[in-house]
Amino acid sequence: MAIVSPCYNEQAVLPLSIPRLLALLSELEQIHGCSGDSYVLLIDDGSRDLTWPLIKAAAEAHPGKIRGLRLARNAGHQYALLAGLEYVTNRCDAVISIDADLQDDLDALPKMIAAHRAGAEIVLGVKESRTVDPAMKKVTAAAFYKLMKLMGVNLVENHADCRLLSARALTNLAQFPERLLFLRGLQPLVHGRIATVHYHLSPRLAGESKYPLKKMLSLAWNGITSFSTVPLRLISWTGAIVCAISVVFAGVALVRTVLGQTLPGWASITVPLYLLGGLLMLSIGVVGEYVGKIFVEVKQRPRFLVDEVADDLLP
Ligand code: UDP
Ligand code: MG
Repeated sequence: MAIVSPCYNEQAVLPLSIPRLLALLSELEQIHGCSGDSYVLLIDDGSRDLTWPLIKAAAEAHPGKIRGLRLARNAGHQYALLAGLEYVTNRCDAVISIDADLQDDLDALPKMIAAHRAGAEIVLGVKESRTVDPAMKKVTAAAFYKLMKLMGVNLVENHADCRLLSARALTNLAQFPERLLFLRGLQPLVHGRIATVHYHLSPRLAGESKYPLKKMLSLAWNGITSFSTVPLRLISWTGAIVCAISVVFAGVALVRTVLGQTLPGWASITVPLYLLGGLLMLSIGVVGEYVGKIFVEVKQRPRFLVDEVADDLLP
């Protein structure tokens, strides 16, 4: 069992979170009989404060229980998390990811392990309430999940990056080689029984949020454009609608001509304007469809993931 936690400039948080994580680890070992090789992996995401010295000191003080990984530069939360997940792949039976500020409820972790023991390959932590989040974050998060749904992306609402992945889910995740990462979107594709554990979000232990609005918007934009080609299709649909409007205008012009109410120049300007505009959008949309196919191909996502093999059934 491994607990991975990305840390970016978390010198204020680590002295408080490390003892809590260690206590939790021994509790998990006792209650659930996790194997001796259970540890906390702290990933320093290119911090510029005392985060790394603190991690190294903790690793020396608690050999085997605290491990550290330092990234060469600030790669971002998702990549720091991925670095941790890659490190533990093939080295643990299950991994739980949790933010270093321990905003996610530590009591949820034993529940996650229980759900895993009951057969779930992936257990997602879901925030039941966001009372501690600033109003701006609440609004943008709600809008983001609505937009993702509209774009046809299958996400569990209010699931943050606190989750348990079984060894098998980790191996499957390793088969997604895409560079632009949005782990929350990948979970449903990774295959395996998914369970959820709900909890209330707490305030940060210390320090400030490392996720300003700019980073949040960039994560959301990446989430949409990495998982959906719906925006491209919207261009085609808009083009088709504009073309249809031009046909309506042509009909109006015809009726006016029959009624003798011709407005000189109106039809010859309006109809081609809408028709050409619509056709242009439609053709961009069609080109977009091909670009969308290229986009799907270059991701080189696995085309299938094997669930089980029953070799004995073969002759
Ligand atoms: N984090 C990271 N790299 C970054 C930004 C954040 O590893 O570039 C870590 C951070 O240390 C924390 C987690 O990601 O453990 C979530 O960040 P934070 O708590 O600041 O975000 P919020 O909870 O405010 O959304
Ligand atoms: Mg936080």
